[in-house]
Amino acid sequence: GGGAESPREAAGENFRLGTYVRLRLVGDDKKFLEKELAAADAEIVRLEALFSANIASSDISRVNRAGGEWVKVGPETADLIKRSLAIAAETDGAFDPAIGRVVRLWGIGTSAARVPDEPEIRAALRGGGYKNVKVREEDGESYVKAPDGLWLDLGAIAKGRVADILKERLVSDGVRGAIIDLGGNLALIGSSPDGRPWRLGLQHPHKQRGEYFGVVNVSDGSVVTSGPYERFFERDGVRYHHIFDPATGYPAKSDLDSVSIIDADSTRADALCTALFVMGRARAEKFLEKNTDLAAVLVLASGDKVLVTPAAREIFELTDKKFTVEV
Ligand code: ADP
Ligand code: MG
Ligand code: MG
Repeated sequence: GGGAESPREAAGENFRLGTYVRLRLVGDDKKFLEKELAAADAEIVRLEALFSANIASSDISRVNRAGGEWVKVGPETADLIKRSLAIAAETDGAFDPAIGRVVRLWGIGTSAARVPDEPEIRAALRGGGYKNVKVREEDGESYVKAPDGLWLDLGAIAKGRVADILKERLVSDGVRGAIIDLGGNLALIGSSPDGRPWRLGLQHPHKQRGEYFGVVNVSDGSVVTSGPYERFFERDGVRYHHIFDPATGYPAKSDLDSVSIIDADSTRADALCTALFVMGRARAEKFLEKNTDLAAVLVLASGDKVLVTPAAREIFELTDKKFTVEV
């Protein structure tokens, strides 16, 4: 006792959700923080086992294998599918959780990565997209149905949702400062130990991991980035990346190099980053004009320009002077 308490920290790293998950918790009581850290990791494992299309027993895999029959799923899965369908509608299908067969066919980021032929891509699109996915609630239970041959994949939204769930839980347990980093999907609690907003780098799309083109100053929010540099493979001099255009079944030919969204809602931020990247500049700008509350930073593929929405102007700082900012 006695004297000013200096903040204590607990930090951990694990491979989860197909990426490196880093948690850093700040508070007064180290034992409490260590316990919260372990509980948070267990929660990630539990949620991954529900949402992952790569785990055979997950809710998502069971729906994908059900051949068009209704499947009972947990409430968190039903909620996330409903949110996914709403965002798919809002983005005109640029974000589409029914992209699973396309994702599996290309295998990008796995040892089975390859360029499929046209008939294979047509077959992968045959399920017809998110409009054919149904959710039903009955007697307090939730059921999901996807047509035979249509596979769900929540890879573009699940990390955001897991971040939101962890954040809610840590806050309600009394954790007053945290960085929840799910492979670059960041959610924050409170401010940094020095009392100022967390200062977070935005990954430079063409430089090594950890090299930033700008920073954002954020308390209590979340910061999510999507870009084609995250996962890709090269064949005959062509680069094929992991963000697909649901309209074509090919990696999206975007004139953007990355999209970052800073928002209290990490689930929405994650899904919208992916969607805006797929849309490309013109469609993304139209979407952002209709959603003026969104704080977004878009790097143009021309290589020298960054677009910053009015809501992001206050929190974004350009650090790479090779870029110019356009609002
Ligand atoms: P990251 O996984 O690098 O965070 P995203 O959040 O953009 O990147 O999600 C990309 C993942 O989402 C892909 O690996 C794939 O599983 C899935 N996906 C790819 N394209 C789409 C799309 N247009 N809509 C929804 N999900 C997609
Ligand atoms: Mg995403
Ligand atoms: Mg993501």
